[in-house]
Amino acid sequence: MKALVLEKIGHLEYKEVPDPVPGPGEVLLDIEACGICGSDVHGMDGSTGRRRPPLIMGHEAAGVVARLGEGVEGWEVGDRVTFDSTLFCGHCAFCAEGRVNLCEHRKVFGVSCEEYRQNGALAERLVVPSRLLYKLPDPVSFEQGALVEPLSVAYHAVSHLPLKGGESALVVGTGIIGLFSIQILQAFGCRPVFAVDLDPRRMDVAIQVGASPWNEDAEVDVALEAVGKEEPVAAALLSLRKGGHLALVGNLEPSVSLPLQFTVTRELTLHGSCASAGEYPDCLRLIEEGAVQTDPILSAAAPLEEGADWFQRLRKGEEHLLKVVLRP
Ligand code: ZN
Repeated sequence: MKALVLEKIGHLEYKEVPDPVPGPGEVLLDIEACGICGSDVHGMDGSTGRRRPPLIMGHEAAGVVARLGEGVEGWEVGDRVTFDSTLFCGHCAFCAEGRVNLCEHRKVFGVSCEEYRQNGALAERLVVPSRLLYKLPDPVSFEQGALVEPLSVAYHAVSHLPLKGGESALVVGTGIIGLFSIQILQAFGCRPVFAVDLDPRRMDVAIQVGASPWNEDAEVDVALEAVGKEEPVAAALLSLRKGGHLALVGNLEPSVSLPLQFTVTRELTLHGSCASAGEYPDCLRLIEEGAVQTDPILSAAAPLEEGADWFQRLRKGEEHLLKVVLRP
């Protein structure tokens, strides 16, 4: 099969590699669409240490079941699916609790670090354990299916906040996760949902999906930080009313300093949020119902063989690109 292989740091090559073979409990997927994540773009240049070559990256994908491994039940050849980007073990204490994103033996597709190497979906085919699969409803396209992974990350982050409906909210950082978070907060009944970003073009998209520009005099019930740097984290905290809640999903920096006395004296609650834990069906429903718009977020769908060029364009960041999906 053809795959986009990270041959060495900073260098992607579209080349022939051996086809993967499904083992017991696994299925072989024909990949139809795979998104490029910011972590792939940053990983490619070696800065994160989590994309060690040689590696096939890609963890946001959708495709068609092409072959069933031994003992797979409930799936048929031809099923249109997406899948959880976290390869969880299914039997540790965290998995038993349903917190599969915290699995003790967690691996992520398209990641290679010190502990493991796991090829991903920037390829014609990929083997996936059947327990990770979710069926795509008919109206959901493969490109939309590939967006469910980042959508689930936003959904998981929002799900940490105590929402009954009617809360005011602020989203700091309007990249992909921020833009999805705005829409999910709205779907949970938050009004208004403010947004703030230094990039006016991203703010335009935030407003397009229903956000209001942040007014610094306002106080909000809940906030969500989707950047992961000191200033935006502080801005998110300082926006909160007494007793407010902040979901932290951005993590560009390994550590930041906090406005500690403000946080303590106002009894603010901070929720770290990592990946997702089974929110895919809820996300697929939101897309199917039109509660989450994907068109403003999907910048381009391009052939996989042009992938190296698209990675460079994303890395340079000169164009106003949000999500780029590659099609094998
Ligand atoms: Zn586990």
